Amino acid sequence: MSSALIGFDQLAGTAKKKQAARAQKWAQVRPHAALLYVENRCHLKCDHCYESEQSHPKEHSLSLDDYRRILDELAALGVIQLTFSGGEIFLRRDMLELIAEARQRRFSVELFTTGTHIDEKKADRLAALQVSKVEVTLYSHLAETHDGFTRIPGSHARTVRALRLLRERGVRTALKANLMTFNVDHIDGLITLAEEVGADWSFDPTVKPKMDGNRDPLKYALSPREIRQKVLSRPDLYSAFRRFQPGELCDGTASIVQKEGVMCGAARSHLAIAADGSVLGCGFFATAAGNVKDAPLADIWFGSAQLDAVRDMTFDKMSTCSSCEVKSSCGPCMAYSDIEDGDIDGCSSSSRQLAEAAHELAALKVKKNAAMDRGKALTLVGDTTFEPPAPKGRLDTEP
Ligand code: SF4
Ligand code: SF4
Repeated sequence: MSSALIGFDQLAGTAKKKQAARAQKWAQVRPHAALLYVENRCHLKCDHCYESEQSHPKEHSLSLDDYRRILDELAALGVIQLTFSGGEIFLRRDMLELIAEARQRRFSVELFTTGTHIDEKKADRLAALQVSKVEVTLYSHLAETHDGFTRIPGSHARTVRALRLLRERGVRTALKANLMTFNVDHIDGLITLAEEVGADWSFDPTVKPKMDGNRDPLKYALSPREIRQKVLSRPDLYSAFRRFQPGELCDGTASIVQKEGVMCGAARSHLAIAADGSVLGCGFFATAAGNVKDAPLADIWFGSAQLDAVRDMTFDKMSTCSSCEVKSSCGPCMAYSDIEDGDIDGCSSSSRQLAEAAHELAALKVKKNAAMDRGKALTLVGDTTFEPPAPKGRLDTEP
């Protein structure tokens, strides 16, 4: 009996020492940005949405009072930039009050919304609250395509109206879209529309599984060839060839994250809090590190072994990556490995989708540049007299 107790005490002591060492190692790592999912419900029915029935419950569970406390805790932790996302955030009746609470605490605030609930009155209020940016999702410049996908007639018109109303009031806006099989040829139409309404734009050429691992949305995914030909080959969309020589992106020696030093900012520079209070390394992790309803945020941030595992991850520790043939064009995503494999160290299909396309394109450029060196073709990259125009938007997912 007594020896069992001693053993337990020793174990507890060891665990405490480990915890203290861990806390010390990450004591200086504090987030500056947080994504808050404040509403699970959405009135649009986009088929590819990463939310699932489980992550789309009918009610949100955090009240305005809960958020007052959470905002204070985020500020104490060092967060200065907040993004409110959903579901559709304006299905919360107290959304404007919540934004006002955040602005009172001097957070910079961005909103992700469908925009369909933003009328003149709301646009006036958002301008008065000085939100730093409102990003809306629009799948096409064509109303019938967008409304067909959201399954809500008139949603395109209302979203575009929101972009115009906000811009007229000086609020910075952005239009963003996943590029999928049915809208990849609408890129130019979307950019023209964005420029007409004074919005920034960004595209994500990958489609993700749902948060519960359901892979149905992948039926809309572009093939690596389509990503290469229709997206990555456009210098106005894809900037990796400004940062890397084509040879570096296909020589198989090191991944993008090895060249740039860190996997990403998950659980380091940013965190996310789901509408049920779950704390996540970033907005796409499926597994919670704790819940702000049960423990102070700082205790979760500094005490979670799960967040430490994300912080500690390096490319070399990923289980399948070191021998991967397209690793030199890949920036693996731990969150999607988590969703797809239930672990953060496997290969995710969205990482692979982009990596294969970038790898193919880099290899083609290397081949063409070699032909140019032999006097058989014009150079595509490395011509010092040609500077492609700087992109006015961005790809969300770049290696
Ligand atoms: S494609 Fe998959 S296995 Fe290859 S480097 Fe990227 S994440 Fe790793
Ligand atoms: S790369 Fe993946 S894990 Fe990292 S922040 Fe982005 S979505 Fe999250």
